Amino acid sequence: MIPFNKPYLSGKETLYIQEAVQSGKISGDGIFTKKCHSFFEQRYGFRKCLLTTSCTDALEMAALLLDIQPGDEVIIPSYTFVSTANAFALRGAKIVFADSTGFNPNLDASAIESLITPKTKAIVPVHYAGIACDMDIIMTMADKHSLWVVEDAAQSIDSFYKGKPLGSIGHLGAFSFHETKNIISGEGGMLAVNDEKFARRAEIIREKGTNRSAFFRGEVDKYGWVSLGSSFLPSEIISAFLYAQVEHLDEIQTRRKWLWTRYWEGLYEPLQKKGIQFPRLIEGATNNAHMFYMVCKNLEQRTALLNALKSAGIWAVFHYLSLHKSPYFLHEHTGGELPWSDYYSDALVRLPLFYELKEEEQDHIISVILKVL
Ligand SMILES: *Cc1c(COP(=O)(O)O)cnc(C)c1O
Repeated sequence: MIPFNKPYLSGKETLYIQEAVQSGKISGDGIFTKKCHSFFEQRYGFRKCLLTTSCTDALEMAALLLDIQPGDEVIIPSYTFVSTANAFALRGAKIVFADSTGFNPNLDASAIESLITPKTKAIVPVHYAGIACDMDIIMTMADKHSLWVVEDAAQSIDSFYKGKPLGSIGHLGAFSFHETKNIISGEGGMLAVNDEKFARRAEIIREKGTNRSAFFRGEVDKYGWVSLGSSFLPSEIISAFLYAQVEHLDEIQTRRKWLWTRYWEGLYEPLQKKGIQFPRLIEGATNNAHMFYMVCKNLEQRTALLNALKSAGIWAVFHYLSLHKSPYFLHEHTGGELPWSDYYSDALVRLPLFYELKEEEQDHIISVILKVL
């Protein structure tokens, strides 16, 4: 069976973990965490990076930082992972779901203004497949209505919009290093703090609501409980694993982009004529090869394709179910139909894409798809 995903390993993960263990400092914010922070800050110019134990945690930190209160409204695409919404729902926010565009699963920025009310506090765009949402429109809208923007950049490491790294454009950006993403630490994440206003409080919220970080820098002579917070920082064991990955980021990206392009070259021409939708980038957006997806015409066609692939030994998968129709939210949703989100729920297919995928395997996948469709 060709798996959907296989975690990439650089080979240095266990070596660095051993170093972390032997250093005698295995709780958070040790040498490897600091190395990861500087890597991301230097490479992408994020004002401040803070590793977390997941992107879910980074989003929960964002909701705390924005001081989301019961009744505040947060605009989120329906076609996303549960954590995007959950983080804000946990603080009592009313989740206002937006539809996707007709040309890719990102939220339709041109429809945001109609969803804004006096209670709206934030917009949370998700860059699906690492492909940028229309951040020009989103930031303009946010400025005009004094809203915060939290980019769910879980899939977006090393991807850009008009030259700016994704995750650096909104006030806050949340990344994931879950084993299904381009660079990984098993579970893991990062909050990029782009607005100076949040830098100090982000450290405090991440460290159980204490000013422990300032204490260790010698800025205060004792530390205590100064805010609401939780424990969002990863142990050095996780950061050591991640550092062994970031050292190979360029190599990983080169390979993934090469495989992505081979899919495109094999599938786009013959299938777009037959009504299959392929990833489309808006002007200024780049592709970080996080995912190769296609959108079938409907659920029936997708089911047939997935079954045929499975019989041929290929593990392809669908993706999100519209959150506005989820069992938890169904009765809370007051926003009407979101047909594009439902379309992607029914018809989107993700193909195997991982560092070790072999050319022959990929050729096999392409030929089975062409035969079925
Ligand atoms: C993976 C993912 C998350 C969750 O990331 P974790 O690190 O597993 O918490 C959130 N949002 C999106 C869009 C994702 O793809």
